[in-house]
Amino acid sequence: MSNLEGVVRRQWRTDRTCGVVSGGFWRSGRVFRIWWQTVQTDAVMSIVVQKYGGTSVADPDRIKAVADRIRTVRDQGDDVVVVVSAMGKTTDEFLALAAEVSDDPLPREMDMLLTAGERITMALLAMALNDRGVPAVSYTGSQAGILTDSSHGEARITRITGERVKESLADGKAVIVAGFQGVDPESKEVTTLGRGGSDATAVALAAALEADACEIYTDVDGVFTADPRIVPAARKLDEVSFDEMLELSAGGAGVLMSRSVEFGRRFHIPIHVRSSFHDAPGTWVKETPMEQAIISGIAHDRSEAKVTVNGVPDQPGIAAAVFGELADAGLNVDMIVQNVSHDGTTDISFTVPRANVSEAETISKQVADEIGARSVDVDTEIGKVSLVGAGMKSHPGVAARTFKALSDAGINIEMISTSTIRISCVVKADQVEAAVNALHDAFDPPVISEEVGA
Ligand code: ADP
Ligand code: ASP
Ligand code: MG
Repeated sequence: MSNLEGVVRRQWRTDRTCGVVSGGFWRSGRVFRIWWQTVQTDAVMSIVVQKYGGTSVADPDRIKAVADRIRTVRDQGDDVVVVVSAMGKTTDEFLALAAEVSDDPLPREMDMLLTAGERITMALLAMALNDRGVPAVSYTGSQAGILTDSSHGEARITRITGERVKESLADGKAVIVAGFQGVDPESKEVTTLGRGGSDATAVALAAALEADACEIYTDVDGVFTADPRIVPAARKLDEVSFDEMLELSAGGAGVLMSRSVEFGRRFHIPIHVRSSFHDAPGTWVKETPMEQAIISGIAHDRSEAKVTVNGVPDQPGIAAAVFGELADAGLNVDMIVQNVSHDGTTDISFTVPRANVSEAETISKQVADEIGARSVDVDTEIGKVSLVGAGMKSHPGVAARTFKALSDAGINIEMISTSTIRISCVVKADQVEAAVNALHDAFDPPVISEEVGA
């Protein structure tokens, strides 16, 4: 063989087969001869799990654009599972509809109503894909084997069987799954996972299907240092750790539902949050980012309300009595502050989701009567701002600087709570936007340098 000899090798991927074409050529006298062979293998295909949020599937044109994007993934030879949200503001519209017909709708019927939103999108997307020559099938959460506990409206995924999903993938189909829903295997009732729950569906499915990652397509370019809709100076983060993202999500950064981040962390599934409007990379939520930020961002939350029990006898067992009753009623208490005691009594304030405030008020009044507390106040006009950063625990001065930034902006802090990587302050609802901007100006995240306490 001469030095003209060459070898080429090319990988190909089609609907159900993938493999390698190897070829080469050599010269024999004045004749070039070629050889080639193909080797078929299943090993190089991977499963891509994508989730498209409400804005990304808001109308027929957007659904068609999503279908085009999915066709591209399929053309690259990957299997694809797509989780969809309800179109645009459908879920809000359904909630408003329910409120028009009933003051107190049964949780079961709410879930029957709300799950319809995602069901519309899944069928339309499957139609658009089939039109593009991509065989596709849609499944409700229940059909996809997404099993949950029984709590309507905020059910937790307990297991994913995913049998029909796997069968359809094996048949060469793109699989579309309705997000935000599952089924309680005991009662056979459908359930919803709480607002933003399609994120949880997607990451849990990615874990169940052993995908390498989960892509969350949304209406912003990624996770920003604050909600870009209220902080114009917010920057996109290239990477953020699971721990920080959990604090940001729990603090109100709705771009990812916190339970989806918990799944990502538990099952080691990196999450890529990115725009559905272009192809630029977004933010990777993962175990260990390349650069560890001291301050990663600021989240805000306007969905809580504050309850204060005044004149509580300052004795052992009182806090247990108040919070025990709230826990028995299944209420989620977030921040708790107990004032310094004077005259043998003290005040206890706590926050709960605004949706549960009347229940919390009723329970608190009953307990107040039993323990001899003076009165109960409720304030629904509050908001919470949270500064988050993994480097906070090893950098003194962050708390002091937070409080100074808020006081310089004329903002009164009503409650404070901290974790090792978060400082949260409750402020008046109409000052939330100013508070987030004041903290963003003061810290200018992401802060990578060592200078934060300076
Ligand atoms: P989807 O319908 O795609 O699930 P969501 O409305 O649930 O989208 O989440 C995206 C929204 O999250 C953005 O439009 C943005 O206003 C809000 N958001 C809040 N905090 C952040 C943040 N830190 N980074 C990016 N977006 C954020
Ligand atoms: N449609 C549901 C909601 O609006 C779930 C989701 O979009 O993730 O909360
Ligand atoms: Mg969302």
